[in-house]
Amino acid sequence: MERQISNSGMEQRKGRRLVLFPLPLQGHINPMLDLANILHSRGFSITIVHTSFNSPEPSNYPHFAFRFISENLPEDRRACCKTDLIAFLLTLNEECGPPFRDCLADLLSDSSEEPIACLISDAILYFTQDVAHELKVPRLVLRTGAASSFCVFSAFPLLREKGYLPIQDSQLEEPVVELPPLRVKDLPSIHTNDPEDLYKVVTSMVNQSKASSGMIWNTFQELEQAALETLHQQLGVPLFPIGPFHKRFAATSSPCSSLPHDETCLSWLDKQVPQSVVYVGFGSLAIISETQFLEIAWGLANSNQPFLWVVRPGLIRGSDWLESLPDGFLEALGGRGHIVKWAPQQQVLAHPSVGAFWTHNGWNSTLESICEGVPMICMPCFTDQRVNARYVSEVWGIGLQLEKGLERGEIERTIKRLMVKKGGENIRERVSCLKKKSYACLSRDGSSKQSLDDLVRHISSLESLTFHTY
Ligand code: UDP
Repeated sequence: MERQISNSGMEQRKGRRLVLFPLPLQGHINPMLDLANILHSRGFSITIVHTSFNSPEPSNYPHFAFRFISENLPEDRRACCKTDLIAFLLTLNEECGPPFRDCLADLLSDSSEEPIACLISDAILYFTQDVAHELKVPRLVLRTGAASSFCVFSAFPLLREKGYLPIQDSQLEEPVVELPPLRVKDLPSIHTNDPEDLYKVVTSMVNQSKASSGMIWNTFQELEQAALETLHQQLGVPLFPIGPFHKRFAATSSPCSSLPHDETCLSWLDKQVPQSVVYVGFGSLAIISETQFLEIAWGLANSNQPFLWVVRPGLIRGSDWLESLPDGFLEALGGRGHIVKWAPQQQVLAHPSVGAFWTHNGWNSTLESICEGVPMICMPCFTDQRVNARYVSEVWGIGLQLEKGLERGEIERTIKRLMVKKGGENIRERVSCLKKKSYACLSRDGSSKQSLDDLVRHISSLESLTFHTY
């Protein structure tokens, strides 16, 4: 079992089963499994439906049932989750329909199991709305990103009409007056063979979320109140901000990952001065060039701060791992730098030695940093990461964004500004304040606790709508 669920917090079994279907990418599987744990602790039985691609190990989750669908993705399409993420998402939505339909119909007809109360699918698996509708199963959606970035996705038709999309290089610095404080360069974009594909995935995700019976968010009211209110008006479905998910249970070991956690991080951190270390990690999907890799390495070296750097195999285009680093680079730093392939990130961020997180601003990483009160250096790579980075630096004021690309001088100056100059103190204060709110919202009267109670009641009320023909 990945996370310890306290038995004292476990509610009486409800005799109802929930079917959860995550998008098979690390940053989506982990929050869905966290949600599964949360709802299991509230008395629901859980069946996880998963693609055979990127599947978690069922033996790590003995309290859940698993069903694997064979989506038969051609090898080149599986590989393209690394090279053309949007083409991969489109293919998943096109190919998974029939096997998922068969699987859900089979689960519905299985009289040996508890009746199914509803399906909860990742918002990006938008094809599941039609399947759920056909089989008369209520569908809730889990959105693993921020509410603020979803507002931007929801505005895609407007942004196209106003000429912001597709993004023109000549307009990058211009403000998006309809969505302050975003600039054109903060709008979600990603390298893909056909730019129209991103528009298709985004609008389908938004439209099929509107058709759902409600949306669950890994965020909290106090952080994203304005965005949640906007979405409440625009989407017309109940919204349940019940995050931060990962803070509801004490982590006992690594969340689902194909790479093992390198535990040397923690003993190395134990030897460092409090709040001195820059933790550097760009998540599970980002890819950088060899030139960028070397600029990062020299920027870190020249900053004179200790650093812990996750260099995931595959992070550097065309390299296996660290072979492009100059000979003796780490040795010359005399132990000031530590590089690993994969870190226990949540534990690293919670370590007292960590003073800043240089991140790509994936939503999980951003939220994990907020929950530990760690200020950020923002280097967004694609899609919603750009919006998250702008919110971190300009709306919440809890980080600095690297605005001028990856250049060693800029990196060194930004690290020093955050870690040793006076301006960094205000940023640190604001993120500590958000950390307190992220804990308070989970307490007995907290907003996320109340929202979770609402969600449990909502799921129970949906049951009456379920009409099984099997
Ligand atoms: N993560 C981790 N160890 C690492 C890097 C990342 O455990 O060395 C986890 C991190 O804690 C987060 C997830 O991987 O929960 C990454 O999700 P995020 O949304 O930040 O980025 P993505 O990988 O989706 O781009």
